[in-house]
Amino acid sequence: MPYVVLARKYRPRSFTEMVGQPHVVQALGNALEQQRLHHAYLFTGTRGIGKTTISRILAKSLNCTGADGQGGITAQPCGVCPACTAIDADRYVDYIELDAASNRSIDEIRELIERAAYKPSVGRFKVFMIDEAHQLTKDAFNALLKTLEEPPEYLKFVLATTDPEKMLPTVLSRCLQFNLRPMAPETVQEHLAHVLQAEGVPFEPAALRVLGRAARGSMRDALSLTDQAIAYGAGRVDEAVVRGMLGSVDRSHAAALLEAVTQRDGVALLAHVDGLRQAGLSAAATLEAMAGVLQQAAVEQAVPGALDEADPETVTARTLASQVAADELQLFYSIVLHGRPELALMSDEYGALTMVLLRPFAFPPVGAPALVARPARPQALRAPAPPTLVVKPPPAATPTPVAHAAEPAPPRSSDPALGERWNALVTGLVQAGSVSALTRELAWQSGLEAIDHSSAPPTWRLRVERETLRTQPLADRLAAALVDTLGTPLQITLEAGLPSDSPAQREAAARARRQREAELSVHNDPLVSELLAQFPGAQLVPGSIKPL
Ligand SMILES: [Zn+2]
Repeated sequence: MPYVVLARKYRPRSFTEMVGQPHVVQALGNALEQQRLHHAYLFTGTRGIGKTTISRILAKSLNCTGADGQGGITAQPCGVCPACTAIDADRYVDYIELDAASNRSIDEIRELIERAAYKPSVGRFKVFMIDEAHQLTKDAFNALLKTLEEPPEYLKFVLATTDPEKMLPTVLSRCLQFNLRPMAPETVQEHLAHVLQAEGVPFEPAALRVLGRAARGSMRDALSLTDQAIAYGAGRVDEAVVRGMLGSVDRSHAAALLEAVTQRDGVALLAHVDGLRQAGLSAAATLEAMAGVLQQAAVEQAVPGALDEADPETVTARTLASQVAADELQLFYSIVLHGRPELALMSDEYGALTMVLLRPFAFPPVGAPALVARPARPQALRAPAPPTLVVKPPPAATPTPVAHAAEPAPPRSSDPALGERWNALVTGLVQAGSVSALTRELAWQSGLEAIDHSSAPPTWRLRVERETLRTQPLADRLAAALVDTLGTPLQITLEAGLPSDSPAQREAAARARRQREAELSVHNDPLVSELLAQFPGAQLVPGSIKPL
């Protein structure tokens, strides 16, 4: 017996076998049960999700005569009567499928309309199915309109399209529209497990997870890929084989790269990229896998516990979610997503990949102090470098005064002994690398408001404004780092509100002071004064002076 491909063998033959489209199945089932039949249906959705399959089941439902030959219109076609078997076998004279991608001209539509004039040969209804209907020419559409509007009672139209935006509004308004949804990877995975069990093919669940993602919502593609995987794996579907076949990257590589990126660890990053090169793993697939992990981590941050517990990659996403701030996560996601087209622009795709992954290094982590970024020194004090001076042509008769940016007021603490101490402690922790990621951000953005010695151990009361930082696990991690440093036990409670004196506020005040000093030094520079006098209309461009 010849091998029948899985996509064909497991093509649903009834509404109950349809996977992943319950809303369409229910609506059509109800309409059939209640005999409320529309004369034209439009199925929209991406390729391979069941538009043609639903059309065939609908044609069977309309024409089924039942096992005993006495049946009428039904939502559960019998599958054994002449109409059902002929439609399943592609040889029912009253069911006509036209692929508008290759038959798009007015002549083909005219021929179809001529056939509409004759009553069904064997069935109750003629069903005309026009696939990829958006590809019909404008003339062909116009020729179809009249029949579509007032078809004979024995005629039903089914239009299918992957691109409803390109359909004429006059056609859309004459059809009952159903949007078929891309299938979730979990739905695909479940169905593949069912198919492989029925086929007696051994498989690893992780392999089906990879196939489910690669199918991009299309069950037909998923089944075709599974066919290939069985051939590759000599009758087994294993994760390693599937990954090899798809050129997809094990997400443990993605996790390792993400760790290097989030920790700004250049050495580890280069080593991992080199590992990918040695293993011949695709740079594009690497970025895709990284985007997948980042997306899951963002979901975990927004809705804790929403990820699939059975997915082994959930652990990676959770770890990332607890280590990286939400805004940083979005930044990384954007960088890896938009980095993909750049890979093709360079002859060495791994070189391009390295460049993309080094991009986050250019953005210091949120809340990072200047001392880990670069030293601050007003530019004008760096002799002999000239100040930033842009000479603009007249007519400005007098130099425009430089606008000073509003600067944050220096922080005030209710207990200045505490503010100093907290700032020194946090700076020490950050310099020593004892706190990282979100814990570092909590320390940096909070203020120590009070220490309550009446409890055991003493309670340090921290105030922080950002809600995402006010979590007990972060407080516990910070407390552990402080205990390590101070050698005495303590606990931390967090309260909401603007801290009276935080390291972040001190840093902002210091930055403003450096800016003011830099601007003053440029304004007082004799060379600048001379240049301004020499060139009437010349001005110092506001915002162009920056402390280094
Ligand atoms: Zn039947």
